[in-house]
Amino acid sequence: MIHLSFRKSKTKPNGKKPPAEEKKQYLEPEFTKIRVVDFDLKELVVLPREIDLNEWLASNTTTFFNLINLQYSTISEFCTGDTCQAMTACNTIYYWYDERGKKTKCTAPQYVDFVMSLCQKLVTDEEIFPTKYGKEFPNSFESLVKKICRYLFHVLAHLYWAHFKETVAMDLQGHLNTLYAHFIVFVREFNLVDPKETCIMDDLSEVLCTPAPPPAPTPAPSAPASAPSPSSQNHVTER
Ligand SMILES: [Zn+2]
Repeated sequence: MIHLSFRKSKTKPNGKKPPAEEKKQYLEPEFTKIRVVDFDLKELVVLPREIDLNEWLASNTTTFFNLINLQYSTISEFCTGDTCQAMTACNTIYYWYDERGKKTKCTAPQYVDFVMSLCQKLVTDEEIFPTKYGKEFPNSFESLVKKICRYLFHVLAHLYWAHFKETVAMDLQGHLNTLYAHFIVFVREFNLVDPKETCIMDDLSEVLCTPAPPPAPTPAPSAPASAPSPSSQNHVTER
C-alpha cells in the first residue's frame, strides 16, 4: 500500500476575507451538475465478496485521506490564519481536542494540520493499519476509522464553505464534488460518521449522492424545501 503525504505549503497571509457573504455557491446547479463520473457511486463502496471488511475499510480510508489531503493542498495557500481564523463550516466551528481531551481553539490551517498529521500517523501505523499478511487489526480499529472519517468530513465541509470559489477558479469543483460524493456514500454504507455531524451538508449530499438523472426535457418537479435542521440555523454550533 502506498502512503503519500501532501503537506500544505506555508504561505504568507494575504489578508483576504473569508467569502462568508457568498452563501453556498456550491449548491448552484451550474456546479453540482459537474461531476467526473455519472454512475452510481454505491457500486464503488459496497464490500466486495471475498474481501475482509477491515481490509476494505483500511484501504478506502487511506485513499480518502490521501485524496482529501491533496484536494486541500490545492487551496492551502488561501487558507491562512487571517482568512480562516477558525475551522468553520456552515454555522459550525470545530475545536480541536488534544490528546488529553483539552479543547483548543485554532485557525483552520492549524486544525487541518492537526487532522492530517493525526491521520498520517494512524494510517501508517502497522499496529493499527496492518499491511503484512496475517497481521490482525486491533480492537480499536473501527473507532479509529470513524475518528479519521469524522475529521476528514470536517476538512471537506470547510473546503466547500470557505474555499469553493478558489476551487472553481482552478476548475477543480468536479473533482471536489466527486470526492465528496464518493466519501459520503462510503461513510453512509458503513455508518462511519454520525449523521448529526454530516447533517450540516445534507443539502449538498442530497444533490450529489443521488445518481445523476438522465437528461430529460421536462424539468423535475420542484422538491419541497427541506426544513433546515435546528442545529444548522441561525446560530453557531460548537463541536
Ligand atoms: Zn480555510
